Amino acid sequence: MLAIRELRKTYPAQGGPMAALDGVGFTVEAGTFVSVIGPSGAGKSTLLRCVTGQLRPDGGSILLDGADMVPLRGRQKRRLQQRIGMIYQDFCLVGCATAEENVLNACLPELGPLSVLLGRFPREKRQAARTLLATVGLAGKEDQRADSLSGGEQQRVAVARALMQGGTLLLADEPVASLDPVRAEEVLELLRRLQREQGLSVLMNSHNVDQALRYSDRILGLRQGRVVFDGPPAAVTEAVLKDIYGGEAAHEAV
Ligand code: ADP
Repeated sequence: MLAIRELRKTYPAQGGPMAALDGVGFTVEAGTFVSVIGPSGAGKSTLLRCVTGQLRPDGGSILLDGADMVPLRGRQKRRLQQRIGMIYQDFCLVGCATAEENVLNACLPELGPLSVLLGRFPREKRQAARTLLATVGLAGKEDQRADSLSGGEQQRVAVARALMQGGTLLLADEPVASLDPVRAEEVLELLRRLQREQGLSVLMNSHNVDQALRYSDRILGLRQGRVVFDGPPAAVTEAVLKDIYGGEAAHEAV
């Protein structure tokens, strides 16, 4: 589904360019849940932002179903990126819009400017948005303003919005870091259910090793811009964690 090869990204820094991604490579098979773990500054966010197209890598390839996104520009690039849903730590919803309108916002790129200006959406899109809100457990909250929903509910709206795009790959950047432990588990369980029932692929950044181990099929350990571990959660031993987190006590990351 997603294949990343030799990905490089450097940032300007005092004393010369600093490699945030230094030849990163891995694949996300269709229908799997992959978590990226690693210490702060390892390059996790940079990696996800390269995949979403927010950042342009300096080298390497990002193949989505075999098509390399890195050299693409303009409409071709946007069309491929439409197949990737994204959820963020801070939800990124329009607070004064309803849950349903937030989900419908995923359709804006494919609607004409008039529909966008008037906020008019075709009936079938509205129906699809309501169905998705029910799928994420928000039936009955469609017309509630996003900023009146709890954090866990807001993240569910964001998941429904990502699904509304119609893609089968969901990127999640610390999706539950702002939620209390119970809501965090609920959102992770939702992602796991969607992955298992709808064949969604999930690529998640997490600073919470325990959660990553419990919900993922595969773990990627990133350290200083390099993949230092790629394997199943069962293979993540104390020694592996020490390798990923360096001298830092691994249990502090759990
Ligand atoms: P993580 O998400 O694992 O904490 P990041 O991808 O945010 O790591 O950062 C990786 C490295 O790149 C860090 O050393 C960080 O300071 C640096 N970095 C990130 N964004 C920028 C930027 N916009 N400009 C310069 N350096 C950056």
